[in-house]
Amino acid sequence: MPIARVALPVAADTTFDYWAPEGLGIASGSVVRVRLGPRKLSGVVLDVVGDTEVAREKLQTIDAVLPIALVPRDVLDMVRFVADYYQEPIGMAAALAVPPLVVRRGVRRKGAAALRPMVQEAVVVDVVPIASVEHAGIPPAGISNAVVLNAEQVNAIAAITGTPGGFAPSVLFGVTGSGKTDVYLAAAASMIRAGGQVLFLVPEINLTPQLEHRVRAALPGVAIVLLHSGLSNGERFDHWQAAASGEARLVVGTRLAVFVPLPALALIVVDEEHDSSYKQQENVRYHARDVAVWRAHRRSVPIVLGSATPSLESWLHAREGRYHRLNLTRRADPRAQMPQLRFADNRPARALEGIGEALRAALALRLARGEQSLVFVNRRGFSPSLLCASCGWEAECPRCSARLTVHRDPAAMRCHHCGHGQPLPAACPTCGNVDLLPMGYGTQRLERVLADAFPAARIARIDRDSTRAKGAFAAMRDAMAANELDILIGTQMLAKGHDFPRLTLVGVLGADNALYSADFRATERLAALLMQVAGRAGRAGLAGEVIIQTDFAEHPVYAAIQAHDYERLAEGLLEERKLALLPPYAHVALLAAEAHHRGDVDEFLRAAHAAGMTLTQRKGAEVDIFSPVKALLARRAGFERGQIVVQSIRRAALQQFLPAWRAAIDSQPGRRVRWALDVDPAGFA
Ligand code: ADP
Ligand code: ZN
Ligand code: ZN
Repeated sequence: MPIARVALPVAADTTFDYWAPEGLGIASGSVVRVRLGPRKLSGVVLDVVGDTEVAREKLQTIDAVLPIALVPRDVLDMVRFVADYYQEPIGMAAALAVPPLVVRRGVRRKGAAALRPMVQEAVVVDVVPIASVEHAGIPPAGISNAVVLNAEQVNAIAAITGTPGGFAPSVLFGVTGSGKTDVYLAAAASMIRAGGQVLFLVPEINLTPQLEHRVRAALPGVAIVLLHSGLSNGERFDHWQAAASGEARLVVGTRLAVFVPLPALALIVVDEEHDSSYKQQENVRYHARDVAVWRAHRRSVPIVLGSATPSLESWLHAREGRYHRLNLTRRADPRAQMPQLRFADNRPARALEGIGEALRAALALRLARGEQSLVFVNRRGFSPSLLCASCGWEAECPRCSARLTVHRDPAAMRCHHCGHGQPLPAACPTCGNVDLLPMGYGTQRLERVLADAFPAARIARIDRDSTRAKGAFAAMRDAMAANELDILIGTQMLAKGHDFPRLTLVGVLGADNALYSADFRATERLAALLMQVAGRAGRAGLAGEVIIQTDFAEHPVYAAIQAHDYERLAEGLLEERKLALLPPYAHVALLAAEAHHRGDVDEFLRAAHAAGMTLTQRKGAEVDIFSPVKALLARRAGFERGQIVVQSIRRAALQQFLPAWRAAIDSQPGRRVRWALDVDPAGFA
């Protein structure tokens, strides 16, 4: 009887062997149910082989084959790549390649293939009927809106679609509002017309439902499915099947969609490619943009990475000629101008309840003109700390090395790192003083300040607290679009792809924080964020203005943003990274560890460091291992945290070092320590 090598979603570096009874049609890519000790698990068959080192009498038999599409070879290869590259267990990587399985007993899916006779229990997949897929794609006539593409857009589309059947990575560098989306859609239309499937990755779907309407309007008659974590398991399963069967011609999805089987894949689009939400921060720590590039290469198809502020990684690839750079240099709507950026001194603003004269006057002007404003601040809650003016005591989280944030409605102190909550103290616990001062400004406080300053204005606040209820975010966005609001206050949730035609002013508070950050990517992120936010102002006929309150108006980052010159900014940042030997000039991995006792973390990291040093000395590897340090947030939720950074100029050298190092770390005792390796981390301090 043949033997199936099954990847199971457990933290083990191996696959597991099972008897694969003939007649069940088990092949590589089959999704199967098996027993592992007392557990029943679903896994992916990576290989079917004739022999195994496992003792024959110990081998168990596969319980069932799930009636879903086979995971194709390229996706299995991608799973292996992800497991190897990101140093993750193969079974955890394989789990990314199958939809969430709604496994229920005794429920039979209508119309699904009957389970094979070997099945001992009726393990079937119960799913809802496909609602959103039409029949097989009717070739689109092209994009249907009345937009006449400009020369830069036409050039970009030709460059993207001009080399079908070959790996061709390009960076679509286009300012906000330059019509990148129309480029993606026209390129997609052309590929779909020729019989291909297109994968369109976006950072976030729930926040930008206009995108779905726009895509559907531009590609009439094309079978389109969405894939993101906000769908029900049944929907995700159906959409996955539609993509895997070839029925869906366009998949619009978040990072998890990079793994979906697409038999006729012809083009991959990664919109907002710089966005850090493409990097998964837990479980399997993959970067969907980078995996997408790998997949495009594996499948020999073009890939477009679009952004107004490309990541420095992609920027460098383009500069060195590995990626083709396509430029959209101006806003597509000829009536839309780039907004004016102004800097307002933050110091007097602090005395004026956070909002300085310049921003106040600008807001008053918008209210008088019946135009809309957005005030952007990167902190939710009322104020980021509570201070005793008499003894200097500050409210801190008992479980984290962090301050507690003051919240109103309901009044409480809350930790934004671990979720801990406690009542507002009536008096200082150290000196008894009852005069406790909320320090700094969050969205709730600014909402109150603005309501006092402009009593007639219709004001709403958008942050994680105000949008917790389902539909709340959409309701506020719709109210803004319907001109039922004058001022919107919000966190970065607001920065992404919203288009409000009457929005002409954006105020930004608290941007300076990023300039102090120890995270090497903070400036790059700040620049991307400010350019995004600025892109929200004055899109249609009305001129836009952006006012940034800062203590450092002369900072070169701000100067470049003011000149709308991302090129200059990117080149400047790259120069710094080169001198400091930071990504993209170095390739980095982070070993993060945490335990209840600092001593356990220290001991674990010391041993890991020593093991790494031994490995690099022995092999003369070109890898630098930094000494263990405390994490920037040294304690979180009662866990003491520490880390080791390792890096190399050569990616291959780091990749060679990591498996050996991981094996050495794995063989340490230290069970009380939780640890993880993060390859190409989103940031580190
Ligand atoms: P981006 O994705 O680059 O931020 P969008 O694709 O959202 O920009 O385009 C911004 C606006 O410009 C949209 O309303 C879009 O319909 C419009 N637009 C795109 N291309 C053109 C064009 N060639 N002429 C006029 N308007 C255009
Ligand atoms: Zn005190
Ligand atoms: Zn906490």
